[in-house]
Amino acid sequence: MSDMTIIKDTIATVHYHGTITGTDEVFDSSHEREPLSFLVGHGQMIPGFEAALMNKGAGDQLTVHIPCAEAYGERDDEAFQQIPLAHLPEGVEVGVQLAAQTESGHVIPVRVVALDDSEATLDFNHELAGQDLTFEIQVISVRPATEEELAHGHAHGPEGHDHH
Ligand code: ZN
Repeated sequence: MSDMTIIKDTIATVHYHGTITGTDEVFDSSHEREPLSFLVGHGQMIPGFEAALMNKGAGDQLTVHIPCAEAYGERDDEAFQQIPLAHLPEGVEVGVQLAAQTESGHVIPVRVVALDDSEATLDFNHELAGQDLTFEIQVISVRPATEEELAHGHAHGPEGHDHH
């Protein structure tokens, strides 16, 4: 099992450090936390992240440059919406992030980009849309997913025992 490599339906446990490509801006890093475990091949991670890890094994280290199309997508110039101020928390300001519920029931962060007397303009793009990303990734371990993890569509921690 120690020489297992990352393929669909394995659980990969990795440390990662993500920056906006070409800058020092860190948008996410696991280094101050436990490493991340995820079920491979089930849409848990951005496509470019999983693709780079295919066939890697414990101990492998890599640096990956992921174009935005393989990360959080291009920015969508249509993804703006005018919302009456009455529907928003009192005192919203430009730049503030709010939680919005999508038609499919997911809660996503949206940003207030403009305000007038009656309406706010909200930007529904993901914060990282349009950004090329660079990850330094270290593979900690790889194991087969359990039946339960495959049924749930997500990892239950490095050992597969985590409750949730
Ligand atoms: Zn579960």
